[in-house]
Amino acid sequence: MIGIFGGTFDPIHYGHLRTALDVMQAVGLEQIRFIPLHGPVHRNPPQASPGVRLQMVEAAISGQDGFVADDRELKRAGPSYTVDTLLDLREAFPDQTLCLLMGMDAFSGFPNWYKPDEILELAHLIVMRRPGEDQLSLASQNLLSKDQGPDISMVNQQSAGVILLQTVTQLDISSTRIRSMLSQGNLPRYLLPEAVLELVVEQELYKN
Ligand code: ATP
Repeated sequence: MIGIFGGTFDPIHYGHLRTALDVMQAVGLEQIRFIPLHGPVHRNPPQASPGVRLQMVEAAISGQDGFVADDRELKRAGPSYTVDTLLDLREAFPDQTLCLLMGMDAFSGFPNWYKPDEILELAHLIVMRRPGEDQLSLASQNLLSKDQGPDISMVNQQSAGVILLQTVTQLDISSTRIRSMLSQGNLPRYLLPEAVLELVVEQELYKN
């Protein structure tokens, strides 16, 4: 089973990393592929370049077994849809079950994504509870209640379509907060790996 963790990672932080490890261990995933998004479809463009965001992901996950940096979205021109990335992964890993990880904020908007039904035919969704994000949109609540309370074993029994609400370490960290600290001249030390902070400082990222 492969976990897919897409994000702007602008920059990647411990909120992404610890929760990904929680999911990998709880669900029994063999690997988690961190996929930096080129230009997200649903929000403002990232501040750091695609190449630097990939570099930060590589620095952050270095040494962790099972964590893989995957640049397939960055190689495509323009914004890409999750459904296309999943079709790509299905082709690359035909024998593996795919699990798409996302925070509750992302899941809240999921029913409005491009082809959500097709996404659920290609992968399971693992929704990570995120501090301050307990309110789900009505549409995403309805999606959840269709499969009321599936347990982890269902992820193994079915090849796709299970929506699992997974409890993870509650770390109230966001890239927005990190960027804002840096723009005010404060170092966000201990919120992200030191190797990522070094890249941020070296390349003078997020100063304004
Ligand atoms: P920004 O503040 O720029 O919006 P972010 O911190 O939310 O960034 P993203 O790269 O947009 O980070 O997040 C990628 C995915 O990781 C999303 O599905 C998001 O919900 C999830 N995520 C981010 N931070 C956390 C966290 N602290 N706990 C759980 N999930 C998180």
